[in-house]
Amino acid sequence: MFRSMITAKSLFQNGQFQTTIKRTLKCSSINNVKVGFIGIGNMGSNMCANLQKNGHELILYDPNPNAIKDLIAGGNARSVSSPAEVAQQSERVFTMVPFPTDVLNVYTGPNGLIANARKETILIDSSTVDPETSKKIETEATAKGIRFVDAPVTGAVPAARAGTLTFIVGGPKETVDELRELLLCMGKNVIHCGTTGMGSVAKLCNNMMLAISMIGTAETLNLARRSGLDPKLMTDILNISSGRTWVSEGYNPVPGVGSSTTPSSNDYDKGFRSSLLAKDLNLAQLISVQSQSPTPMGSTASQYYRILVNNEKYADKDFSAIYEFLKGQKN
Ligand code: NAD
Repeated sequence: MFRSMITAKSLFQNGQFQTTIKRTLKCSSINNVKVGFIGIGNMGSNMCANLQKNGHELILYDPNPNAIKDLIAGGNARSVSSPAEVAQQSERVFTMVPFPTDVLNVYTGPNGLIANARKETILIDSSTVDPETSKKIETEATAKGIRFVDAPVTGAVPAARAGTLTFIVGGPKETVDELRELLLCMGKNVIHCGTTGMGSVAKLCNNMMLAISMIGTAETLNLARRSGLDPKLMTDILNISSGRTWVSEGYNPVPGVGSSTTPSSNDYDKGFRSSLLAKDLNLAQLISVQSQSPTPMGSTASQYYRILVNNEKYADKDFSAIYEFLKGQKN
């Protein structure tokens, strides 16, 4: 199987970032790497299924045993009972857990990955966290002679399922190069963003944009509906007009308007939980303050999702449920 590989090089020149992107095609069929995976949820389960299809042996850990059943049934996969066991038995370890505190729990402490990994093992965090968390883990891992990269992903569950994720990676270039083929078993792009933490910066920027775009699309389609226009017809208009977005085309928040696999057409399940987006928006505000960057739209989006997740009905639903929330508002 051939996939696109991208390397991005950014240089700060004449007051601007100059970015060169090099694309090459590379076969991703390397077999028999023992891959540890921690966090087998909406994203992790699909990423593991693609590793499995590409012939990799999987060593899995998730506190919820139900999360692992299907992968075990798929063969060449086994479950262990702690991050320490994953570290001891794997050549590469991915983590895909909800919050920065979960990431720190999995990596640090006597039963964590860093204390138990072999020197040749590479640890890869694909969870969405703040750059400080990524740097903290790198410092601890480096002190033990273990390599670590932050490699969050974009493309959400549809891309995780299709094996077309984009990995945005922070860490030493040689380590990223060593990981490319493995990452391309789950994705179509690998972009090296710079030093450790820069993958997390890129991911938080993307998700701030995604939230603003989702809110804009949901507000627009609710406005159309309340003004007497069918949201499906409005979507068709948006998708051939200047209001078209990734959300309106591929992740429509109105049930029955997008494809049958969109979370909105499935009771807003099996997607990207609103509580996770609220976390990302909060972290984006953190780096916005640290870098002294004005982000009034990002701030509004953050407040929007804070209110949404305070409602139990929505916290564990996909973030496109913001449309249902808006439908319930008056004035
Ligand atoms: P999820 O809630 O569906 O799955 C998380 C899994 O991690 C669960 O199976 C849970 O049991 C497990 N887990 C929780 N705490 C753990 C711990 N301390 N140790 C080990 N396992 C633990 O979440 P998800 O949607 O798969 O997202 C995972 C991460 O990926 C998050 O950081 C999220 O922000 C990010 N992300 C999600 C999407 C998406 O569209 N869902 C896209 C890109 C990035």
